[in-house]
Amino acid sequence: MAEPFTCPHCNGHDYVITLTGCNITNATVQEAFEWNEEEQDYQSSGSIIVDSESVENEGGEAVCANCEKDVSDAVAEYEEKIVGGAAQA
Ligand SMILES: [Zn+2]
Repeated sequence: MAEPFTCPHCNGHDYVITLTGCNITNATVQEAFEWNEEEQDYQSSGSIIVDSESVENEGGEAVCANCEKDVSDAVAEYEEKIVGGAAQA
């Protein structure tokens, strides 16, 4: 594998991408419910896509999993580098 993405703010390697306005084909979506004793109600993590055939999206945002800063530009640059180094499909 190539070198991992590195956050320009904290040098972390983990990041989360949030896509909005998605057009997803054959998606498998999971939602976790946790019982909250104090509120006597379930709390949901929100819907998480665990698998899909293809995802088309209009906009996306990347956030560092460590320092939670916006790293959209850095991730886009990183992905360009990875795609550029691999054989084009
Ligand atoms: Zn960071």
